[in-house]
Formats: sequence, C-alpha cells, structure tokens
Amino acid sequence: MFPRRAIYQFSAAFGLALAVFASGGSPVRAQEFVYRGNSATGPTVAQYLEQIGPAGKEIPHGQLKLDGKSVNCGKRPTVLNPNFDSWGGAFPGFLILNTKKIKGLSTQVKLYIYSHECGHQFIGANETKADLFAIRRGVKWGWLNAQGLEEICIFISKLKGDAVHPPGTQRCETMRTYYRQLVAGNDQHRAGTSSNWRPTTLGPSN
Ligand SMILES: [Zn+2]
Repeated sequence: MFPRRAIYQFSAAFGLALAVFASGGSPVRAQEFVYRGNSATGPTVAQYLEQIGPAGKEIPHGQLKLDGKSVNCGKRPTVLNPNFDSWGGAFPGFLILNTKKIKGLSTQVKLYIYSHECGHQFIGANETKADLFAIRRGVKWGWLNAQGLEEICIFISKLKGDAVHPPGTQRCETMRTYYRQLVAGNDQHRAGTSSNWRPTTLGPSN
C-alpha cells in the first residue's frame, strides 16, 4: 500500500520527466529524477530505452565498472544515458548514469553518485537518506576515505538545491557529520572500547 502522498510525488515527478522529454533535454533545473513506489510507477528498462533512443545503453547487473571498480545495486541494471539531465538518476528497479557528465569526476565521487542512486532503490525518495546510504556504503565497503569525502563535498557544494534536494553545502555538512560518526564508531569498535559507541540514528537501518 502506498500512501496518497507517494502517488502525488510520483505524479509530480512524472510530469517533470515528461516536460524534459518533451523539451528534448533542454536545461531544466532538476538535479535528478526520483521515482518511488512499486514497479508500476515507473517505466521498465525497455520502455525507458525506447524513450531515450539509441544513445541509451543497458548494463546488466554485475557488469558495470566505474574506473575499473565493479559496482552493484542488488540485482538492478544500470542504463547509461549520455543525454540525461543530471549525473545520475533512479527509477524503481534500475539506475541511470550520465556517462558524459560523470567523466572527469574522481572515482570516489562517481561511486558516491552511483551509491546515492542505489540508495533510492532501498529508502525511497528522501535525498538526505540516499546521501547517507552512499556514505555508509562507502565506509563499509572501504572505497570512501577522508579525501574522497572532501571531493564529494566540493562536487555537491556547487549544487543549489531544489524542491527535494537540500542545498549542496548542507548536504556536504550532513554527510561529513555522518562520515565522522561512522569512522569514529569503526575506530572504537576496532579498539574494543565500545562502551561510548552509540549507533547513529541518522541513516536508514537496512
Ligand atoms: Zn537523489
């Protein structure tokens, strides 16, 4: 069961996407398109590929590499779309990466973008939670370090924010705080002094 709010969000997002498709991808202030809900609320990979034309390419689960690093989001495929209006996006069931836009970004920023979009698959439309999902993944899987977090902050701080995305500087601060908590937690865990360690409640629990 989906609350009426979710359906409304979908309607709004769908309208936005239609506007972009209709305008041939001309500059729109949206930073990405986020869809939530069950598979009936977004296009299938085939439908999306048909919509975006020959430039689009589906990369099956398990085959995507970013700077030589294999990535995955459960069993979900990724559609590479060089004409997409943002660096990345997500529909229920698959991810979108703009190969042209992410080119030149550092590996950790690319992994952050991919992981943020993956986060939407699990936590829904909330942008902050998707950011924290990516940071948690980065720490847990070992690809994110302090330098990478700074690169992410430099990247994200240029974004102004919109109706669903907080301003980039705020997203940076939120991720920085969470990163510190995660790293501190890991250190204390390793040192065996877990008496002061408190699980963070900032992020999703899965
Ligand atoms: Zn997002």
